[in-house]
Amino acid sequence: MDSQRLYTYRHADGQYIVSIANHACVEEAIAAACRDLGIGAAAVRGIGAVNEATLRFYDPATKRYVDRRFEEQMEIASLEGNVSQMDGKQYLHLHVTLGRADYTALAGHLLSARINGAGEIVITPVGADLPRRYDPETGLNIYDFR
Ligand code: FE
Repeated sequence: MDSQRLYTYRHADGQYIVSIANHACVEEAIAAACRDLGIGAAAVRGIGAVNEATLRFYDPATKRYVDRRFEEQMEIASLEGNVSQMDGKQYLHLHVTLGRADYTALAGHLLSARINGAGEIVITPVGADLPRRYDPETGLNIYDFR
């Protein structure tokens, strides 16, 4: 899917209201919108529905990520995240709470998810660079505001 087909948007009051196309990937659409719109740093939030998602859990004890894929219809009850930079490249950090058909919820770091229904995202640009660096103590790519 080319970038223009991933989403449509409206700009208002300094924010970008983004509608992710049906069957597009959430993380790809957000990344493309930020690139296309010249947004280097932002806060991201959203709601919608997906039918597949890969979530990631970080274990600080082992400093390893465990990924798990879910293939079922789920509501994006809450998507929260940010856009920043690492080594001069765009860096997306997204977390999600997904509601299942039985009204229980899954949650975690969002690696990838495919919209099945709507994807309604708000991108709020931040007028500053938000660099990251690898932190050996936590094993995470943390903000570098030193
Ligand atoms: Fe995370």
